[in-house]
Amino acid sequence: MDFSLSEEHLMIRQAARDFAQNELLPGVIERDDAQKFPAEQIKKLGELGFLGMMTDTKYNGSGMDTLSYVIAMEELSKVDASASVVVSVNNSLVCWGLEAFASEEQKQKYLTRLASGEVIGAFCLSEPEAGSDATSQKTTAIDKGDHYILNGTKNWITNGGTADTYLVIAQTDKEKGHKGINALIVEKGMPGFEIGPKENKLGIRGSDTHSLNFNDVKIPKENRIGEDGFGFKFAMKTLAGGRIGIAAQALGIAAGAYELALKYSKERKAFGTEIANHQAIAFKLADMHVQIEAVRNLVYKSAWEKDQGLNYDLSGAIAKLYASKVAMDTTIEAVQIHGGNGFVKDYHVERLMRDAKITQIYEGTSEIQKIVISRSILKD
Ligand SMILES: Cc1cc2nc3c(=O)[nH]c(=O)nc-3n(C[C@H](O)[C@H](O)[C@H](O)COP(=O)(O)OP(=O)(O)OC[C@H]3O[C@@H](n4cnc5c(N)ncnc54)[C@H](O)[C@@H]3O)c2cc1C
Repeated sequence: MDFSLSEEHLMIRQAARDFAQNELLPGVIERDDAQKFPAEQIKKLGELGFLGMMTDTKYNGSGMDTLSYVIAMEELSKVDASASVVVSVNNSLVCWGLEAFASEEQKQKYLTRLASGEVIGAFCLSEPEAGSDATSQKTTAIDKGDHYILNGTKNWITNGGTADTYLVIAQTDKEKGHKGINALIVEKGMPGFEIGPKENKLGIRGSDTHSLNFNDVKIPKENRIGEDGFGFKFAMKTLAGGRIGIAAQALGIAAGAYELALKYSKERKAFGTEIANHQAIAFKLADMHVQIEAVRNLVYKSAWEKDQGLNYDLSGAIAKLYASKVAMDTTIEAVQIHGGNGFVKDYHVERLMRDAKITQIYEGTSEIQKIVISRSILKD
């Protein structure tokens, strides 16, 4: 056992921390207010190698481990979860999925541009009638010999309007159930592919969430990822890693709110002393600190298991379930510690509280994580 971070990990943490303070913090309130996508910031993150962190350098990635990725996710999420979700989707769901399962030609054509941040990607599984129950896919990809004809609607797609490359899950053979599902690479601008209006959201308002419509979109067979029928497995395996990234995002939101609350509690005076000197406030800070430490250990352990080539399905579900709960609890307490100031935008904690909520919903709700965890412990 070695709980210390390497020099390289410490450098990544500092680089992400500096980027968050210098590039994400300015304008974060305004972007949230206006639901403005952090386009310039994402471009810079791509140039610095944060959009293909775990991708091999031969595909223009940074060739780093999962631990590096979660460290960066925590730091970016402390300040701007709308930007960090772009980092998460591009790294875990798009680049990782392509590197693990796509053909060499697909990697050369798509992954090289996604990992460098030249373009960004989207992962399209959810539908109006298929969220938690992802096997109920209504989107169809009908086999026409050398191509598929794609029809249907996806919703809640992160990077929906800004992406260039979309990994779309669709049903080819209904008879075969989830074994009849395929994952297809769809390009923006393909005839029949329409992007719906942007969602007006509670949190991560700077991120770009859209529904997508496919009307007889012709997708060449060479754009299918893996063998015929591999699509559902592709989605589940990719999401298993994605959960570690979202757990790290939740960790960052919690830690960001805690740091703000700690600072504020040492500055704000009530009844003739700094509020940190009131035990009720000090105990809140102690609880937050303990929970965040526990979450960080869960997130790092899951990342480590992935890097060791071990199975990380259970540890990823545990990390996401607990991290997202702690993000919610901690941000609510951070607002409380700020009193009235916590309720206005200038102090950042109300935004972190709104942003925290999504971590209990996307990439598998908390209830779905409990299904994964309970199945695993009950089968032993
Ligand atoms: C901002 C945002 C971004 C998103 N980005 C993406 C994206 O990029 N790509 C993508 O594919 N999807 C994305 N999603 C979709 C997200 O993954 C789904 O919203 C989520 O999986 C839940 O599905 P649902 O909304 O259909 O809820 P439902 O599945 O309808 O669930 C409703 C409630 O019922 C509970 N529930 C459902 N089934 C069970 C069960 N068996 N046992 C107990 N409780 C259950 C759920 O936990 C939830 O509380 C995004 C969503 C949002 C809001």
